Amino acid sequence: GAGSPVLEPETVLLSSSELSPPASPGPRRELIAYEVKVNQRDIEDICLCCGSLQVYTQHPLFEGGMCAPCKDKFLDRLLLYDDDGYQSYCSICCSGDTLLICENPDCTRCYCFECVDTLVGPGTSGRVQAMSNWVCFLCLPFPRSGLLQRRRKWRGWLKAFCDRESGAGLETYKTVPEWKRQPVRVLTLFGDIRDELTSLGFLENGSDPGRLKHLDDVTDVVRRDVEGWGPFDLVYGSTPPIGHACARPPAWYLLQFHRILQYARPRPACPRPFFWAFVDNLVLTQEDHATATRFLETDPVTIQDVCGRTVQNAVHLWSNIPAVKSRHSALGSQEARSLLAQDWQRMKPPTQRPAKMVKNCFLPLREYFKYFSTGPTSSL
Ligand SMILES: [Zn+2]
Ligand SMILES: [Zn+2]
Ligand SMILES: [Zn+2]
Repeated sequence: GAGSPVLEPETVLLSSSELSPPASPGPRRELIAYEVKVNQRDIEDICLCCGSLQVYTQHPLFEGGMCAPCKDKFLDRLLLYDDDGYQSYCSICCSGDTLLICENPDCTRCYCFECVDTLVGPGTSGRVQAMSNWVCFLCLPFPRSGLLQRRRKWRGWLKAFCDRESGAGLETYKTVPEWKRQPVRVLTLFGDIRDELTSLGFLENGSDPGRLKHLDDVTDVVRRDVEGWGPFDLVYGSTPPIGHACARPPAWYLLQFHRILQYARPRPACPRPFFWAFVDNLVLTQEDHATATRFLETDPVTIQDVCGRTVQNAVHLWSNIPAVKSRHSALGSQEARSLLAQDWQRMKPPTQRPAKMVKNCFLPLREYFKYFSTGPTSSL
């Protein structure tokens, strides 16, 4: 039956080695080369990330297997970015401290020394470091480097992996090859995110005004208007910041955002990547918060602006942008508010604009849209 483990000699061998005194993670990964070259084991039956033989699924980018714990880690970290705009973790194992960075300007991927040395060949990381213009294993013209073989159609593999493993919930899109990426077309409601998107390189300074449309009042906007202005790739909306005089009740912003979002969405089953984000500056009531979660069909995350040990500001973010969930915790509307409570009273106007707080959540869009180079001074 499916539940009873079949003990093959190799499995026994593995478990006995696993039971032996705590091995450092290094030696196990070195077994990958041994298993493939000496034992003639198919690399698809070995976890590429840690060397485990308890394979749960296939690695979506490179030929090789993946064990269940590594799959979870990979899924969580896959599209996390650092402030420098590069991915935070190794594209092979999704961990790693010291990372080699791909110098293809359209690529944001990193690789750890250990992966490169164990899978491509000992000493490779040193050689890569000495090179001035290294491009990574997904960007190189040839698909194989040592044991590392890029999958054909890896974008499709990646999408299938995310759809399958992230469970019920958000639709995911195939990442777009750099030569196909177009500048993002943005509709921004109530709050403006032009500065943030410009600093991330998604909009050029003085770029075509058609790339971003900002509306403060949408009362009279109907479907025909949105379809005429569009198509849009990203729809952003927010409630007004606390202390900001506004004529409407906070829930109005949510309901209008949701209404306009429906007009901007591509037809069902359309494969075109389409993203949205809604930010509440903690002005929605608990009931509105629940309504937002129901309407937007996803749970929000809480993003905090922390200075020292003081939370200076916090927002809730509902979004379908990849990796937003894995980077931030989800606090209930109550919890976030009580977190702020002590500081709230003596709080001067928030130090950071809400849009600035969520800025880095837009970084994963680099896998889908063209971005222009940003100077070192432009990172806010
Ligand atoms: Zn593993
Ligand atoms: Zn790695
Ligand atoms: Zn690359």
